[in-house]
Amino acid sequence: MGIIGDPIDHSRSPALHNLFAKAEGIDTVYVPFPLKSGNVGDALAGAHALHVAGLNVTMPHKKAVIEYLDGIDPAAEALGAVNTLVRTERGYRGYNTDVVGFEKELKGFQTDFEGQEAIVIGAGGVSGPVIHVLQSMKLSHIWLLNRTVEKAEEKFGHISNVTVLPLDGFREIPEGRHLCVQCTGVGMGASIGRAPIEDPGFYKRIGKAVDLIYSPEETEFMRLVREAGGEAKNGLEMLLYQAVESYRLFTGHQVSPETVEMAGKAVCDV
Ligand code: NAP
Repeated sequence: MGIIGDPIDHSRSPALHNLFAKAEGIDTVYVPFPLKSGNVGDALAGAHALHVAGLNVTMPHKKAVIEYLDGIDPAAEALGAVNTLVRTERGYRGYNTDVVGFEKELKGFQTDFEGQEAIVIGAGGVSGPVIHVLQSMKLSHIWLLNRTVEKAEEKFGHISNVTVLPLDGFREIPEGRHLCVQCTGVGMGASIGRAPIEDPGFYKRIGKAVDLIYSPEETEFMRLVREAGGEAKNGLEMLLYQAVESYRLFTGHQVSPETVEMAGKAVCDV
């Protein structure tokens, strides 16, 4: 099994899947496959010929793989993005395990969010699964803040209870302690120490927050939420549980809670 993407060196998926295999005593190996855009069809045909049992898909291929699949799970089809491919006799079937991962992440708050409003920052690939889960949990309204308003409008503007705003438009959000999900890459890599919104006034509107970034363990966004009296989590649980779900789809094996806990500690230490 493996993962296709570009870049791929930073991915923690190989470490996670190989830990699952070792701890659960299952004979699988998972490797990173660097793959340039334009080569997706050839790569899937080659992987199929070589009997690669399953592939995870990361940026920039989550949409491009769709035309080469032998079928797609209805939930992934509705989102228009797949991140998990399972081998069939004729090709690969596509799934999206970010939905399961984000559901688990929110369950960690042990709160019923039904009827509450939410703020989502970012309108990229992962924002689709995030908004899908918020809708399924019956949140009443979603305030979607994005650097490029047109992109967010194009993707999510048609949803009746979603309002798109620029990043500095947060003052239009009614005061209150809302759930907030940070879905941009600002705060990791070269932007460690930065947050997509740095005005402290924004953070007074947040009660509970998830930053989907999991490295560093505490981002600047999380620090600002906590400083303003809110509760903040990073995206580690989402990362772990989307991997657990992928592993189940690839092998039919459900990873035990003890192994999930061990793997979570191990990837944090990487
Ligand atoms: P993506 O498709 O590249 O989207 C990036 C988003 O970030 C866009 O909304 C983009 O705005 C915004 N953005 C980029 N640079 C910005 C800046 N300097 N200031 C403000 N906004 C900026 O990425 P993605 O796949 O959605 O992933 C987003 C984040 O989620 C990444 O950090 C990724 O690691 C994380 N993630 C975590 C998990 C997990 O399991 N925990 C799973 C998936 C993703 P524009 O529209 O204006 O370009």
